[in-house]
Amino acid sequence: MTAHASRPSTEPLVVLVTAGASGIGRTIAESFLAKGYRVHVCDIDPETVDEFSTANPGAVAGLADVADAAMVEQLFAQLGSRDGRLDVLVNNAGIVGPVAQAEDITPEDWDRTLAVNLRGHFLCARQAIPLMKRQGGGSIIMIASSAAFFGCPLRSPYAASKWGLLGLTKTLAMELGPAGIRVNAICPGSVEGRRIDAVIDSDARSQGRTRDEIRASYLRQNSLRTFVSPQDVANMVMFLASESGARISGQAIGLDGNTETFAI
Ligand code: NAD
Repeated sequence: MTAHASRPSTEPLVVLVTAGASGIGRTIAESFLAKGYRVHVCDIDPETVDEFSTANPGAVAGLADVADAAMVEQLFAQLGSRDGRLDVLVNNAGIVGPVAQAEDITPEDWDRTLAVNLRGHFLCARQAIPLMKRQGGGSIIMIASSAAFFGCPLRSPYAASKWGLLGLTKTLAMELGPAGIRVNAICPGSVEGRRIDAVIDSDARSQGRTRDEIRASYLRQNSLRTFVSPQDVANMVMFLASESGARISGQAIGLDGNTETFAI
């Protein structure tokens, strides 16, 4: 664990995982719980928050849309009054957004995708920074995507938001390094789970191909011919948050079997 100057050694480290009540975020949150962290998660979906709370009574779960500045402010006010510190912020929230040619994407859909995937990360970081500065350090981890390294046809707002995240990561790492705050991005390839299953279904329908054919095409996108598991992402997050990651900042770390192409 990375210890920060002002933390009494008897108190647990504190982490916030955005969109942490399901999917990859939930695996990340549960990995921190297993390591004895004090875990906060937020999610936009009330049912998901209830389910997560029932399964993880030791965590603090609240409703928040990360794109909503007032909700994010309230989330951090609650976190601050309960724990008074934040050691790790995992900015995980991100939506797929519209899947269409750019000329068919509405400005509203564009704005919503950028609002969740980029503005939301900024809104949470700007609340976390004063807490981390006060305690003498911290770790901010953005969950980006291998789409941040390539063009991604039919997903222009998603790709733009993830490329934007790398700009935010590199810049915050420079601004905050002198305060002992490390900022990194993890760029997963296709992660096993509901979301990639839905993407494969949609591609199969639109291209008149079978699910197995589409799945095989996704596997051929990377050198290792692999999908990533949510636990792979959680393991990288835990590494970056730990003492082992103490000298790592400003990095965009591919976790994708080495993506070679986005062609399917
Ligand atoms: P998901 O679609 O399974 O959603 C996880 C949770 O996010 C849900 O509980 C949902 O309610 C919540 N959420 C959605 N919008 C929110 C908002 N505005 N505020 C708060 N919570 C919100 O997502 P996932 O597959 O677990 O992906 C997590 C992150 O990983 C995202 O940033 C995504 O872009 C990135 N990623 C995912 C994959 C993949 O294949 N699944 C690949 C690369 C990167």
